[in-house]
Amino acid sequence: MHPSAALARIKPSPTLAITTRVQELKRAGVDVIGLGAGEPDFDTPDFVKEAAIKAIRDGQTKYTNVDGTPELKAAIVAKFARDNGLSYTPDQISVNVGGKHTLFNAIVATVDVGDEVIVPAPYWVSYPDVVLFAGGTPVFVAAGPEQGYKLRPEQLEAAITPRTKWVILNSPSNPTGAAYSAAELKALGEVLERHPHVWIFADDMYEHILYDGFEFTTIAQVCPSLYERTLTVNGCSKAYAMTGWRIGYAGGASWLIKAMSKLQSQSTSNPCSIAQAAAVAALNGDQSFLKDRAAAFQVRRDLVVSMLNAAEGITCPKPEGAFYVYPEFSALIGKTTPSGKLIDSDEAFVAYLLDDAKVAAVQGGAFGLSPAMRISYATSDALLREACERIQTACANVR
Ligand code: PLP
Repeated sequence: MHPSAALARIKPSPTLAITTRVQELKRAGVDVIGLGAGEPDFDTPDFVKEAAIKAIRDGQTKYTNVDGTPELKAAIVAKFARDNGLSYTPDQISVNVGGKHTLFNAIVATVDVGDEVIVPAPYWVSYPDVVLFAGGTPVFVAAGPEQGYKLRPEQLEAAITPRTKWVILNSPSNPTGAAYSAAELKALGEVLERHPHVWIFADDMYEHILYDGFEFTTIAQVCPSLYERTLTVNGCSKAYAMTGWRIGYAGGASWLIKAMSKLQSQSTSNPCSIAQAAAVAALNGDQSFLKDRAAAFQVRRDLVVSMLNAAEGITCPKPEGAFYVYPEFSALIGKTTPSGKLIDSDEAFVAYLLDDAKVAAVQGGAFGLSPAMRISYATSDALLREACERIQTACANVR
């Protein structure tokens, strides 16, 4: 017995691997600061927890409709109308076991062998692997710091072929924090209007984590002509600090939603009934705390950006949102660590940081754009300051 060919095409999530490594080191007593994880350090709000406890007490502990309870679908319909000016009916809504599962369902339900999916790089690690699992081909388009980590319309135009099925847009982005303005989305939308066979996967998971008054928009909102072929994807994980509850969702064409439901009916069935009840509370409840949390993240972003730019050899752009920075360090490639190791890649630099500075970041290679690293600043100001000081020292010590 061997693993399947489909499995052989993918690799384990590199970001989850770093989190596991940090946990192992901590258990072994090493004073390591983990900046690899992609989750808010805030707790799930109490009113959400209470809703879940009530759901258990009320007996909401059985199977639900495969792709979401009527209550949750109604809450999602209301959310899309309230936050995004998008009008969906419940049969256009799919609820899944986290946003990663939404991606998996949508891609596996639509991508055939040889189909292409345009993935701007750097990208969230799961996009290419889910496409590969489905037998498709990820088509990477480099969108580096010189262009604000954002796909340009002419790049999109050049990447589209008759085999293109989807383009993935993620704003604000994991791993760079870059966010598209309405004008930038409109410019991409004008290209897509000329190619009616291309569908848009709009991953808005970090919608509520934006800074300096940056106004969130999503492509189906700014380009109504693309509404029919856009899957607008969101979830509870990042906004409501509910990563463990596993609720992701999407709004889109009813045939696509039905196709995703068919796949889900033969794999996970419904998302956890209790987590769905919690998600109803999160989406229908008072949203004002989201702004407070974003403000706290903004303070940390400013701290990390200024401290990393003060490290020799590191250049750290200032992101518009999410809770990541994506500094580049080409000036450090070719240097040698105090123990004599050559820094010949971002993987080597990240290994040096973990070994010598006891700071865990994720190498840019995992996200498709090197030499860089992703640093998550979803941790306390004190730990961030300490981590950045350690990185500054590590940078000063290479020759
Ligand atoms: N989309 C992006 C860009 C993400 O960064 C993540 C999580 O890291 C997800 C989707 C999926 O989140 P989850 O599966 O936890 O809901």
